[in-house]
Amino acid sequence: MLDADIKAQLDQYLQLLEGDVLLKVSAGSDKVSKETLELVDELATMSTKIKVEKAELERTPSFSVNRVGEDTGITFAGIPLGHEFTSLVLALLQVSGRPPKEEQSIIDQIKNIKGEYHFETYVSLTCNNCPDVVQALNLMSLLNPNITHTMIEGGAYKDEVDSKNIMAVPTVYLNGEFFESGRMSMKDILSKLGSAQDPSEFNNKDPFDVLVVGGGAAGASSAIYAARKGIRTGIVTERFGGQMLDTVGIENFISVKYTEGEKLAAHLEEHVNEYDIDVMDSQRVKGIEKKALVEVELENGAVLKSKTAIIATGARWRNVGVPGEQEFRNKGVTYCPHCDGPLFEGKDVAVIGGGNSGIEAAIDLAGVVKHVTVLEFLPELKADSVLQDRLNSLPNVTVIKNAQTTEITGNDSVEGISYKDRETGETHHVELQGVFVQIGLVPNTEWLEGTIETERGHIVVDSSGATNIPGVFAAGDCTNSPYKQIIISMGSGATAALGAFDYLIRN
Ligand SMILES: Cc1cc2nc3c(=O)[nH]c(=O)nc-3n(C[C@H](O)[C@H](O)[C@H](O)COP(=O)(O)OP(=O)(O)OC[C@H]3O[C@@H](n4cnc5c(N)ncnc54)[C@H](O)[C@@H]3O)c2cc1C
Repeated sequence: MLDADIKAQLDQYLQLLEGDVLLKVSAGSDKVSKETLELVDELATMSTKIKVEKAELERTPSFSVNRVGEDTGITFAGIPLGHEFTSLVLALLQVSGRPPKEEQSIIDQIKNIKGEYHFETYVSLTCNNCPDVVQALNLMSLLNPNITHTMIEGGAYKDEVDSKNIMAVPTVYLNGEFFESGRMSMKDILSKLGSAQDPSEFNNKDPFDVLVVGGGAAGASSAIYAARKGIRTGIVTERFGGQMLDTVGIENFISVKYTEGEKLAAHLEEHVNEYDIDVMDSQRVKGIEKKALVEVELENGAVLKSKTAIIATGARWRNVGVPGEQEFRNKGVTYCPHCDGPLFEGKDVAVIGGGNSGIEAAIDLAGVVKHVTVLEFLPELKADSVLQDRLNSLPNVTVIKNAQTTEITGNDSVEGISYKDRETGETHHVELQGVFVQIGLVPNTEWLEGTIETERGHIVVDSSGATNIPGVFAAGDCTNSPYKQIIISMGSGATAALGAFDYLIRN
């Protein structure tokens, strides 16, 4: 089951096991059962602390990860390799007794949850949003005996995925009912369960010198630059990592030939944690006001105060805005080809958008799905020619230019897409099961309306990153900088932090 590379990595991790781990395996005679048995047996041969026992679990094939004499409720149905490999390793280590890297207040919150919660998470092994959810729910399951969690790999449980009409991953069910779809942090899950952090924890904080709003490339870089000046720095963010978490290969982060978004985000988080920076993750900001200090209001009602603020709230996928888009969201309409592509194996799909991200998505999907139709609004594709050449070499892709999407149709899920030929005015309809929207990004600045000068939604900044409000700076994709890239966001984050520091000295 495990290639030499994975075995070498695993070997190092398994040396960190503290106590015994009992894997209970439920297997039949099918291919995935055989692979599951092979995997658990291989794990057992790699560490004397891992024992294997045959069992009858709710799903076959599956295996649960337990302490001897104590079931944890953590189950993997399907093979947790690919992006889920880290979920498997963490489950083994944490069940063996290694303490989780989680704030004590969160651990206490989990332990205090009352009631029975049986979570099931449908994942694909190529989904980079899934492991966060799987690992959070596994930890909850480990810490609270009333919580269980099963990761279900969609490929191994195709019938179940089809019968539940799951078209986006991760999709989480709680006690048999749909709970949520998409990336969620531990704090998101806890707040959805009604166990949110107490707003007074934020209200009681001393004012910051620099408070950064947003934890993407720009926000992280601002915070590091500010903290290195020895001033009181905080980051408040909805999702640490930002767009990097939706990016697979990155080949233009200068000095690193190739990395992946998730890896880069983890390195950034590690770098931020090297400094005395107060990171307030999974918190959404809803307003900013300049009084004696800058006041930043959170959605939970708390107000954080700071002498200066740096807004680095980045951008999000642009909606196509046609009937059916919202209705069939996660029911065939999706924005993440890497995550959801495998769920459309053997099906027909459309990609809306012929820019770099659209064409990259089409190339990626063509290897999995039956056929890809690319709909581009303009008379020409805007993607780099190297991508267009690659696209044109693929046999199962059709490109339709001058196509204005008018509707996404279906009943319970997507069944087709309609578009108008902008040259002839004729309307056409293509029957398909999936629509990947890839038409660029919009800045996350609606919450600033009426407070800070923006230009088509982008915050207007000067060469030091200063906005029109004294003491308020901005950086990255949410600003009017003409190019949106990781290295550019990081550079502008550094500029804004130095600008804020200069402002503090002078005021
Ligand atoms: C699919 C894809 C592939 C890409 N590939 C590359 C590439 O190969 N190379 C490259 O250089 N660039 C690439 N980019 C662009 C690059 O990812 C962005 O330019 C960069 O990450 C932007 O960083 P940012 O910090 O400005 O914003 P973001 O990454 O968008 O971060 C914004 C942060 O603000 C938070 N936030 C938003 N609203 C609020 C709120 N109201 N309250 C609190 N927090 C909030 C978010 O949670 C997030 O933490 C890619 C982008 C995408 C989508």
